[in-house]
Amino acid sequence: GGLYNIQGWGAPYFTVNTEGNLCVKADGHETKAGQEMDVLHVIQAAKQKRKDIQFPMILRFPNVLKHRLDALHAAFHTAISRTGYTNTYQGVFPVKVNQNRAIVHDLVCFGHAYSYGLEAGSKPELLIAMSCLTKEANSRAFLVCNGYKDAEYVRLALSARAIGLNAIMVLDMEEELDIIIHQSSKLGVEPVIGVRAKLLTKIPGHYGSTAGKHGKFGLPADRIYEVAKKLKGLNKLHWLKLLHFHVGSMIPTTELVAKAATEAADIYCTLVNKYDAAEMTTLDCGGGLGIDYDGTRSADSDISVAYGLEEYASSIVQAVRTTCDKAMVSHPVLCTESGQAMVSHHSMIILESLSAIPEPKDDDDEDTPEQLRTKIQHHYSASNLPTSAAVMDLQKHGIEAYKLAKKLSKRIAGDANTIYNYHMNLSVFSLLPDMWGIKWRFPMMPVSRLNEEPTRMSTLIDLTCDSDGKIDKFIGNAETLPLHPLPLDPDPERGGCYYLAVLLSGAYQEALSNKHNLFGGPSIVRVEKSTATATGFQIATADLGPTTEELISTMRYNVRQDIVGVIQRRAIEIGVWGMVGEVVHTGLTTMPYLIVEDHAASSWKHQG
Ligand code: PLP
Repeated sequence: GGLYNIQGWGAPYFTVNTEGNLCVKADGHETKAGQEMDVLHVIQAAKQKRKDIQFPMILRFPNVLKHRLDALHAAFHTAISRTGYTNTYQGVFPVKVNQNRAIVHDLVCFGHAYSYGLEAGSKPELLIAMSCLTKEANSRAFLVCNGYKDAEYVRLALSARAIGLNAIMVLDMEEELDIIIHQSSKLGVEPVIGVRAKLLTKIPGHYGSTAGKHGKFGLPADRIYEVAKKLKGLNKLHWLKLLHFHVGSMIPTTELVAKAATEAADIYCTLVNKYDAAEMTTLDCGGGLGIDYDGTRSADSDISVAYGLEEYASSIVQAVRTTCDKAMVSHPVLCTESGQAMVSHHSMIILESLSAIPEPKDDDDEDTPEQLRTKIQHHYSASNLPTSAAVMDLQKHGIEAYKLAKKLSKRIAGDANTIYNYHMNLSVFSLLPDMWGIKWRFPMMPVSRLNEEPTRMSTLIDLTCDSDGKIDKFIGNAETLPLHPLPLDPDPERGGCYYLAVLLSGAYQEALSNKHNLFGGPSIVRVEKSTATATGFQIATADLGPTTEELISTMRYNVRQDIVGVIQRRAIEIGVWGMVGEVVHTGLTTMPYLIVEDHAASSWKHQG
């Protein structure tokens, strides 16, 4: 596993066992050898549990999710007690980072004791949040309402308050205040509001444009003070409870974390001291807690950050404490909206290799080794013939024969410089949209054979008919990934197939996914740690992705009428509907990915 830097990006959750298989350590610490969850065994168990399961497949490990949440809270708890901070940490999960039902439900459930809440950025996300949080279990938890708000959004947020949830509407624009005032009096529900600050602190890199003077979101400090004045004039200043900021994802250093928190804490203190916003309670520091996708722990890599959870938490706590102490303002409740840092680790995408072929090299001609031999023979004979030709010509033949012989020996010597294209059962656009959209890279590695040297330099090609549908940038700025030759005679003991895992892929990919070529979502398998089984895990659920019919329907076809009906009429005319009907029906009810013959299963069958 060293080749793939698994210790760098994977600790403490991923490791390789003595069998050479990728493993998950659900609790993040050293479990006894043999107690890790072996990913190859997980895949085989999923196929066993559900015979029609298809690739690509997402494996979700809720135990890892719980560990991330616990680790974040432990980090803030430690920082708060070490620095003598006199208030608490109370975070929220930004639903946009992964809206899947199981994930939002798990986080709310695991976070119950911490009064962990949710953040919504749109009406659909607000509806999800309103259904997952309950008055009984989560009355203290924040429901932070961000994003553009029209009257309907505001009415939803007010009704969230009416059903006993702690919904806070964060103003992104000043106009939203008038809508809130109007709707609140119409519905007779008192709002709680926050304001999003547009900070001057900017982060470098892809996400930098989120903040700064020209950032898309929030109000500059002077406008925030105007909002406070307006509320005071209306006798509604007690509505204002929270100040929010978000400077962008993957904040590269703790210096920038502290700088942003200091700038925001300054505005917070000014609101309290100069604008009488005495009922302010909370500073919401947004997202941006980064994770280390390439394992370099470096601020210079755009897919890594130079800190961990503990340093992040202590930078925020220190910065806010120092600023508030100077201004003699009591310490606010600290909130963050950490998204990627919560969900990235807990899920991995499993891809299946279909075939591998050598990539033609630029200097290659179409000649086979046989043709090269014939050409060499021709030049060689010509250079040796006792003819009347000039000495120069004889030399030219000699040199040509020599060049071709070198090429031939390189060709026969084979693999060292050859790049192999591995065709994978995947669409980059539907599974890893960030790899295509923002040139993001995720750690990737084979699931098995990790005690065998991977001798082939490889790139991955997907199923779409699009030249962007390939992966040729990997962590460490590599243009190839070392892989093993595909098994020629698939050994059932090894699962017969060759699988790759894409790790740290739990954030954003599913929601940003698109339907290029109408390839849809993957199968999703939930894997829970279990002490009751010999393998140390159990497959809790195994669900298929959307069917071909569902995907076609999203393009506004009435599938039964426009597609099946039309094909049926034509097939009946020719008298082949019996066969055609069955094939079409099967095609519509399965996932649009390739169904690969299961070598392992079929060879077992032949033996049995
Ligand atoms: N909060 C807000 C307002 C955001 O816009 C985002 C991401 O874009 C997040 C939280 C989550 O950020 P991250 O995943 O970097 O923690």
